[in-house]
Amino acid sequence: MIEVSGGCHCGAVRFSARMPDPPVPALACNCSICSMTGFLHVMVPHDDFELLTGREALASYRFGTGAAEHLFCSNCGVKSFYQPRSHPNAWSVNGNCLDAPPELSVEQFDGRNWEQSRARLDEMEAGG
Ligand SMILES: [Zn+2]
Repeated sequence: MIEVSGGCHCGAVRFSARMPDPPVPALACNCSICSMTGFLHVMVPHDDFELLTGREALASYRFGTGAAEHLFCSNCGVKSFYQPRSHPNAWSVNGNCLDAPPELSVEQFDGRNWEQSRARLDEMEAGG
């Protein structure tokens, strides 16, 4: 495991997280919100993530099923991590918001066809 830190653009939101040794698995998603925000997903179990500062700066946005909670800094607008629908026990940390990004192994996630893509992830995780 490696220890990383990161946060939003203005510095109000700061976090630390543990990730697997590089290359760290990451998902690039093409859904409506991820393509707009350029979010690069690194899934971090809730226990391996600590929000250091900025809880009060975080604003929340939900759409569609409402299962995902999109969190963004109310000051600078950057979404540095959020609660994804695909991984209820993990935060999705934005690989583009890390101070010193480790090498990432980026897979494409077809979020426009969410149900099929989530089922495919289950098959991959069960297989490996
Ligand atoms: Zn900010």
